[in-house]
Amino acid sequence: MAAEFHGRKRRRRYDPEARSAYVQRYYQENSERIKERARRWQRENKDRMNARTRAWRAANPHKSREKTWRERGIKNATYRTYLWVLEAQNHACAVCARDLKPNEKQTHLDHDPRTGCWRGVLCSPCNVAIGMFQESTGVMERATQYLAEV
Ligand SMILES: [Zn+2]
Repeated sequence: MAAEFHGRKRRRRYDPEARSAYVQRYYQENSERIKERARRWQRENKDRMNARTRAWRAANPHKSREKTWRERGIKNATYRTYLWVLEAQNHACAVCARDLKPNEKQTHLDHDPRTGCWRGVLCSPCNVAIGMFQESTGVMERATQYLAEV
């Protein structure tokens, strides 16, 4: 086509595979410089980064929670599952039975750290306590005995 030959140099035809290979090679050869530039930008723009994250979390509360669960190693946890489990537990902590609301920070999706699978919904203190007792029923039983004897 005539339009392709306008200008002094004939532009090379756009080749997506060649472009992709070039971008990959460029990144491999300059990855440290690129990463350092990104790290520097993030360091120098912490307030902007935090504001952006806060805005995203406020706009996407369900996705935000799912992201947090993924970061903590909880597999296959969706917000719908979470609501379903909470509903099945009558909106109460599975350990202490205190009332739980789905969007409160105090409402935790408990998971088994060995398998990454969720177990139930707990209040924050109960979830933390299970971790503090090293996830061990034996340790918890000894603590119960201790409390009963003292
Ligand atoms: Zn509880």
